[in-house]
Amino acid sequence: MKYLFILLLAALGVAAPARAMPFVEVNLQVAPATHSFTCRYRFTLPASDTTSVVRLNLNSHFKLQPVQATQNAQSRITSVQYAGYPHQQIQVRFGPNPRRSRSIELVYTGSISENNYTDQAALFSAHSEWLPFRPYQEYEVLPYQLTVQVPPAYQVRSTPQPDKQKAGRWTFSGTTSAIEFTALVAQQFYQAVSVAGPPITLVKAGVPLTQTDSVTLRQAEVITAFYNRTIGRQDPITRFTILMPGNNSGAYGLLDNATVITYSDFDVARTNELLILAHEISHKWWGYGSFHDETDWLNEAFATYSSLLYLQASGDEAGYQKELDRLAQTTPGTPPLWGFDRYKYEYPMHRRVMYNKGTGILHALRTRIGTEQFLTLLAQSAAKKTSTTVEFLQLVEQIAGPETRGWLLAELKR
Ligand SMILES: [Zn+2]
Repeated sequence: MKYLFILLLAALGVAAPARAMPFVEVNLQVAPATHSFTCRYRFTLPASDTTSVVRLNLNSHFKLQPVQATQNAQSRITSVQYAGYPHQQIQVRFGPNPRRSRSIELVYTGSISENNYTDQAALFSAHSEWLPFRPYQEYEVLPYQLTVQVPPAYQVRSTPQPDKQKAGRWTFSGTTSAIEFTALVAQQFYQAVSVAGPPITLVKAGVPLTQTDSVTLRQAEVITAFYNRTIGRQDPITRFTILMPGNNSGAYGLLDNATVITYSDFDVARTNELLILAHEISHKWWGYGSFHDETDWLNEAFATYSSLLYLQASGDEAGYQKELDRLAQTTPGTPPLWGFDRYKYEYPMHRRVMYNKGTGILHALRTRIGTEQFLTLLAQSAAKKTSTTVEFLQLVEQIAGPETRGWLLAELKR
């Protein structure tokens, strides 16, 4: 009977069962020799979502084929300035029929920028700007399926293990931020897995692992164990991937239990690089604020202070104090964190306020309420995936009382 009902729903074109979130299917065809690609991106709204207009922003360098959308939809494309960069914005207006799932399909071709490839590898990830996203929702969390097609001599790695793989075709699936679906393409990968605790896989593209990489993996193991006892104890890491493409273009955390570290000479024997590793791993929990407004402190100050908690716990009290002092020296005269508008300032001010000032405020909060209560607060905030400062203040009130909430609000407005 149930089967018949589902058949009937299918015949009527009604999604069954309805998905709560939009779903994304991506088919990425990569030509590694030229760093170029073709991407087929299908964005499906569930039947329960009655949104009538969907906008998707796409890198203006890509060549977009005519937009396909569910029948009765009208689409148009405009050029927009977005966060200071030109984008093409695809706007699709659906006809009224709210009980059906509706899809938009974009097919586009292009090349990834120079800082996302090396002679050995091509990186499609959060900083490669290869995916469309809804404006101001780069970090909306979406279930996805990613299929990557490469020439037969190439392999693909991502943040999860592949669901399926055969020569030239790799399929991954999961749930992560809209711009964080990841494909690292190379002819040869070298990788190692941690021996204790949750499996941590270090994946290096094109170049054999060194003793320094073994130390990185060992440190990642120790950092993860520390976080799983402290900030992550209500939502621990159960697997983690460190992708090392070697393109020397920064480091960043990915929500799906992974980090991309692009430095080819990365060495955690240097305190600064140890802090980078600890910062990026902690983004597993600190990734729900917005990149565009004051709530970025929930990402960046929390990740920075988490890395300092680790440094201190590892026994380097002097390093902890030195780093706190260094950050504090950059904050006098900065505008308040509360309501900070990054687009009114050059980027360095964003760092001074969101990262450095925010870190100082977290340190002051810990000093005020004590380490034990502070870690309870962070662990609960991480488990709740706090995404606004107001939510965090409410949690502070629950755990540390209204006076501390008032004190923190005053600090944020200072
Ligand atoms: Zn960060």
